[in-house]
Amino acid sequence: MAALMQKIISLAKRRGFVFQSSEIYGGFGSCYDFGPLGVEFKNNIKKSWWEEMTRKHENMVGLDSAILMSPRVWQASGHLTAGFADELVECKSCHKRFRLDEIANSKSEIQKCPECGGQLTKPRKFNLMMKTFVGPVEEKAATTYLRAETCQGIYVNFENILNSMRLKIPFGIAQIGKAFRNEITPKDFIYRTREFEQMEMQWFCHPKEASKWFNFWLKERMKWYLSLGIKKENLRTKEVPKSELPHYAKKAIDIEYKFPFGPAERGGWHEIEGIHNRGDWDLSNHSKNSGKDLKYFDEGTPSQSKLGSGQAKQKYFPYIIETSAGADRSLFAFLCDAYQEIKGGRTQTTKAVKEIEILLKLHKSLAPIKVAVLPLVRNEPKLVKKAKEVYQLLKPHFTCQYDELGSIGRRYRRQDEIGTPYAITIDFKTLKKDDVTIRDRDTMKQERVKIKNLTQILKEKLR
Ligand code: ATP
Repeated sequence: MAALMQKIISLAKRRGFVFQSSEIYGGFGSCYDFGPLGVEFKNNIKKSWWEEMTRKHENMVGLDSAILMSPRVWQASGHLTAGFADELVECKSCHKRFRLDEIANSKSEIQKCPECGGQLTKPRKFNLMMKTFVGPVEEKAATTYLRAETCQGIYVNFENILNSMRLKIPFGIAQIGKAFRNEITPKDFIYRTREFEQMEMQWFCHPKEASKWFNFWLKERMKWYLSLGIKKENLRTKEVPKSELPHYAKKAIDIEYKFPFGPAERGGWHEIEGIHNRGDWDLSNHSKNSGKDLKYFDEGTPSQSKLGSGQAKQKYFPYIIETSAGADRSLFAFLCDAYQEIKGGRTQTTKAVKEIEILLKLHKSLAPIKVAVLPLVRNEPKLVKKAKEVYQLLKPHFTCQYDELGSIGRRYRRQDEIGTPYAITIDFKTLKKDDVTIRDRDTMKQERVKIKNLTQILKEKLR
């Protein structure tokens, strides 16, 4: 498992997906930068999520709230107290630190360091909020926190959105943005970092319908991963036991992916998204602390949505069903799922001479580069000129990469390794007939098409 993980990390760096932050200064604790391919890949994931949530579903609106908020928000949400803290134990011999819940199922179970067998300290609680100072003087009044979850920005705007958009329950608010947690044991590449991106949706519904909507959204979210190519056998759901529920949740089910890391007994399963029934925890606490009545007044008119049933005239705190996914963790899962090694390579026409060929079978909509443009050879000025024309033709429509270095076979491999679905080759026939070949990443089949039809054909293929 560890060897595969190393190969994926090495590919991510070598091909410009993910770099260690501040690498020239020796790196900076668990922060990562998304390189030229990583940013395209992550943008595609976020775009797919946004379209799925805001276009496919009715009664859904978006938001982009500030990362910095009044510290009173975090006081009210319960994040400044013990509820949002992880328990840490340290080995007295090797001084490695572990999150208690990662090395034991119950407190009585852990006695020894999983690395060296040394004695462990008693568990200590660490709050995960990242403190910062707003204003030039570091005085107490100016202390606040970088948000630990994007959803609080949604709750504090509940009334604004309700009034400005004239929404009726049930409805949802979707948001994508950065979140920060002072994780005590950040690790496993981009899986657990201190700065990350969340894609969160909060669904406001009548308390009596919370359970129905919980099941609905869990199914929808599972479908999204599968529709983007994640293998069924690598995805599962796991209910969070009552004793481990987050402080705000009445019920939680995690969507887990089978990653190539972690202790053998976990079998690689780790959370990528949480579906939570937050009840009225957030709205009632913000009501109490802000003095604003955040109850919803249901006039009894049936909701315009086909999805919901209108409730009789009443005033209540809606329940919230939350779907909380990590953009970085999803990217990591999509990357692992797409990674394939083919011993000897896939070429049938020549003798297999390569040791291993890498193929990144990313879903077309997630692939960072959609189309590669390759002149057959680079020492033919006419071919190169034509290839550059084709590149300019396609560039406004797709993320394209022009490559003329090395043999054509080698250039196909380079594109396979980064998951480019289509490669366009400009050869000698092109100069006479004004046509090119389109090579399909997965089947390696090539078809000839006229340049004048190329954009349209690619658009259809990539739809
Ligand atoms: P974990 O148990 O792994 O710490 P969590 O249960 O605290 O996660 P939530 O608070 O439910 O996580 O956050 C929702 C999602 O946000 C997670 O499923 C994950 O995708 C993402 N996320 C949370 N913490 C991190 C982190 N430190 N690094 C990267 N992504 C994260």
